[in-house]
Amino acid sequence: MQSQKNITMVGAGLVGSLLSIYLAKRGHKVNVFERRPDMRKTQMSAGKSINLALSDRGWKGLEGVGIAEDIRKIAIPMYGRQIHNKDGSQVFQPYGKEGQAIYSVSRADINMKLMDLAEEQENVKIHFDERCTGIDKTTLTAHFENNNDHQKTDVKSDLLFGSDGAFAASRLSMQLSSDRFEYNQHYITAGYKELIIPPGAGGEFMLEKNALHIWPRGSFMMIALPNPDGNFTCTLFLPFEGEKSFANLTTREQVKKFFDEEFSTAVPLMPTLIDDFMHNPTSSLVTVKCFPWVFDDKIALIGDAAHAIVPFYGQGMNCGFEDCVVLNGLLDKHGDNWPAILNEYQQLRKPDADAIADLAVGNFIEMRDKTADKTFLLQKKIEARFNSKYPDKWIPLYSMVTYSPHIRYSKALKEGAKQQAIMDKVMAMPDIENKWDSEEVEKRMLEELKLFVQ
Ligand SMILES: Cc1cc2nc3c(=O)[nH]c(=O)nc-3n(C[C@H](O)[C@H](O)[C@H](O)COP(=O)(O)OP(=O)(O)OC[C@H]3O[C@@H](n4cnc5c(N)ncnc54)[C@H](O)[C@@H]3O)c2cc1C
Repeated sequence: MQSQKNITMVGAGLVGSLLSIYLAKRGHKVNVFERRPDMRKTQMSAGKSINLALSDRGWKGLEGVGIAEDIRKIAIPMYGRQIHNKDGSQVFQPYGKEGQAIYSVSRADINMKLMDLAEEQENVKIHFDERCTGIDKTTLTAHFENNNDHQKTDVKSDLLFGSDGAFAASRLSMQLSSDRFEYNQHYITAGYKELIIPPGAGGEFMLEKNALHIWPRGSFMMIALPNPDGNFTCTLFLPFEGEKSFANLTTREQVKKFFDEEFSTAVPLMPTLIDDFMHNPTSSLVTVKCFPWVFDDKIALIGDAAHAIVPFYGQGMNCGFEDCVVLNGLLDKHGDNWPAILNEYQQLRKPDADAIADLAVGNFIEMRDKTADKTFLLQKKIEARFNSKYPDKWIPLYSMVTYSPHIRYSKALKEGAKQQAIMDKVMAMPDIENKWDSEEVEKRMLEELKLFVQ
């Protein structure tokens, strides 16, 4: 057991709630301040993604506090991508080996379960409706304002974690009060809007339940993830401007025409499509990179506050949960030496967060464009075959990121680049379409791999 610290956590989202449990289990006293009301008592407003894909890094984070089995009961496995082509044909592309899946979970359910578990620890208290307005680094005092009575509170502590998401007030405070703070934010040209495919008359799923559905359309796409009540949450990712864009979908007629042309097979499953489209918000997608994440050995950013990424690898939450796992491991390693813990945390995590941020942007192109491309699919088939024969020599990039928590994101990024260089050569072999499963192709891949080792 470490010596007890008074810890302030800003934000009771997915990562702040999980980290508070890890810290409480170590005997620390944690006060969590959350801007929103208690979501267990109030209706959530629209605007945040409704469901998320949870994969092995995230599961590891949940296992560490003993809550994985509870979440598994409300998670729906998705074993692959179900591609809906424009001509109405469908193709299933498995995500990994047989039995490997990513899991659709409700953001609210997982957040509420984490809050419940946090509050079960006698040394955690969550204060709702408390918005952080700034942090005084020199005195380690966080300032909060209550949403209801506007009362202001100053909270001093021994340590503070900023887990207040992509637009973190904690990060802004550090940026304004630190010399040489690196900050970069990048908005991609596409935004997103959530829509719905409701269950059938008997409550049944109207699409294959155990798949992540994609309607890839080149510069844009729609995806759908299953929810336990038979719904699918659909997300349309579309450029803000240009010919096919949100800017050109402002009337009900325009929306109807666009969906009839692009997603004709989905339209009959979306009875409230036009109303949903007109009413639901259009949101932007940002990558935030910053450094340092640790200030005066006592304040640290974690989760989206340190590294917001676009959602196309389904890794934002998973990465934030992995932050917690790494930090917890460093508590074992360094005991009470918090400067060492926090410094090693940021040294380890920064390159990994940068790597998954870049991979996530790249995966948008793969999902919206390449999943319908024959050459891309052939390449995936060749890689899967090679992986099944030589599992220690070749793990496909998607599997490294999604199913291999022992492989760091930064390593996956490097390996992925190496594999792509090899596959560019393999795919350029004459008549590859007919000999993709031949010994010749296999030999070539082995030779190319040897060249990289040398
Ligand atoms: C469309 C979309 C789809 C996604 N899909 C996936 C997916 O499939 N898989 C995946 O792993 N990730 C996904 N993500 C990413 C994931 O949502 C985030 O990475 C994750 O929510 C980060 O958790 P967090 O706790 O760091 O931040 P958040 O979940 O944003 O929590 C931050 C908390 O801080 C609170 N807060 C904010 N400001 C203040 C303040 N000033 N004072 C006090 N409290 C404050 C907020 O109210 C919130 O409760 C997706 C994101 C989007 C946008």
